[in-house]
Amino acid sequence: MVRVRFAPSPTGPLHIGGVRTALYNYLFARQNGGKMILRIEDTDQGRFVPGAEQYIVEALQWLGIGFDEGVHIGGPYGPYRQSDRKPMYRQYAEQLIRDGWAYYAFDKPEALEAKRKEYEAEKKTFQYDCNTRGEMENSLSLGMEEAERRIAAGEPYVVRFKFPDNIDITVHDMIRGDVTMNSRLLDDKVLFKSDGMPTYHLANIVDDHTMEITHVIRGEEWLPSAPLHVMLYKAFGWQAPGFAHLPLLLKPEGNGKLSKRDGDRLGFPVFPLEWHDPKSGEISSGYREQGYLPQAVVNMLALMGWNPGTEQEIMSMDELIKLFNIGHISKNGAKFNLDKAKWFQHEYFQMLSDEEVAAMLEEESGKRNVESGKFPHEYYVKVAGMMKERITFPKELWGTCCYFFEAPTEYNEKDVAKRWTEDMHIHMQKVIDILNTVPFEHDAIHKALLDDYIAANGLNTGKVMNSLRIAVVGRTVGPDMITLILTIGKEETIRRVQRAIEKLRVKN
Ligand code: GLU
Repeated sequence: MVRVRFAPSPTGPLHIGGVRTALYNYLFARQNGGKMILRIEDTDQGRFVPGAEQYIVEALQWLGIGFDEGVHIGGPYGPYRQSDRKPMYRQYAEQLIRDGWAYYAFDKPEALEAKRKEYEAEKKTFQYDCNTRGEMENSLSLGMEEAERRIAAGEPYVVRFKFPDNIDITVHDMIRGDVTMNSRLLDDKVLFKSDGMPTYHLANIVDDHTMEITHVIRGEEWLPSAPLHVMLYKAFGWQAPGFAHLPLLLKPEGNGKLSKRDGDRLGFPVFPLEWHDPKSGEISSGYREQGYLPQAVVNMLALMGWNPGTEQEIMSMDELIKLFNIGHISKNGAKFNLDKAKWFQHEYFQMLSDEEVAAMLEEESGKRNVESGKFPHEYYVKVAGMMKERITFPKELWGTCCYFFEAPTEYNEKDVAKRWTEDMHIHMQKVIDILNTVPFEHDAIHKALLDDYIAANGLNTGKVMNSLRIAVVGRTVGPDMITLILTIGKEETIRRVQRAIEKLRVKN
């Protein structure tokens, strides 16, 4: 039975790189009929940020990344928040000490700092390891009896892992293959802190083991910790899970990890939801608030570092679950591409039904006090169907469609200067006459206006039709002019043309 977990620390909003990690775990779990678990790793109380846990839960819910067990829904392996599991970690630290895999250390922060300085003065870097642990104050150098006496007297201590000297440790990574590191490069990491809390390393391994996690899929930044984790499994005599370290999400230029600052600099969100920092009050933008559809964000993220091995780009969650394959995850970082993000958004916006887009439009018109009773629901649906292809974000809807609901109050000056010649009121009056006399249908209007009037009199089609557009829309954008007239109706068109004749004539 496959069991995977997403294990964020609640130190702030969830970066989209973290969202991608959650997504890949989810796809892997679903594909294998396994379980997906949400565990909150909050052992570092100093970095705890209020609201971050709720943010994580809400963001993943918005994206449709579901869980079978977790901090927000419970489950048979709970509790799922490490601070709630605090009492269970000490026994594991003690087990490692008993078995000779760890030791107590009493070095005060000042003593460690002094050591670092001493090494620096000799242009060396201090590392607490098999070469230096003998010079430090710990249960190996002082003896166990003395260590126990100090602990009984209430002296603060930490527990450190005791790396064996000069052994090669191999991490079997599903993406990178075997990654080997010599223990001489590694320091005796703290496993248990003086505040009675485990560090990330100990809690992570104990939890993954006791929660029966089979595969650890996480960001590349954890690869340097993986040899310690492999050794911890060995020290406990537990079977290690499979590891997959995902490539980084890179800046659009490709040099370095995608950061919040890149988002600010280039104007795109780096977080799924808007985040209000509780300390600084700073607001960081979110995909949701920018109007991205969750399906578009999921699809875009899925392809950042993975591909199905074909050219296919648009994939629903169900398709992703079918096609996802850890073997196809790239070893190289994936560059963030804003144009691509917008492209996905546009594609997914087109998949919305006319009804769904109409509902957004109705909401916007409601906000703007357009008399909602004035337009029937079917009218919104019609406009939505006609205009959808021009829209990428919901926030563009009203600006793009408003002239279906309201007459223009201003006329774009540049367009007027270019198109509305002195004689234009004569031609516009003719448009009104035509609308009043010919049947109100596409072909009849087309023939009367374009053939029998404009062409027959040798007029400039662009000039006349664009002036008509200025009168109806306010500027020279919009769908096919006759379709537009037929949609807003005869009376409304005539009213708008009449008004333009009056307003723009004064100017000329
Ligand atoms: N708490 C770690 C993080 O915030 C989890 C790393 C892991 O998945 O082992 O990313």
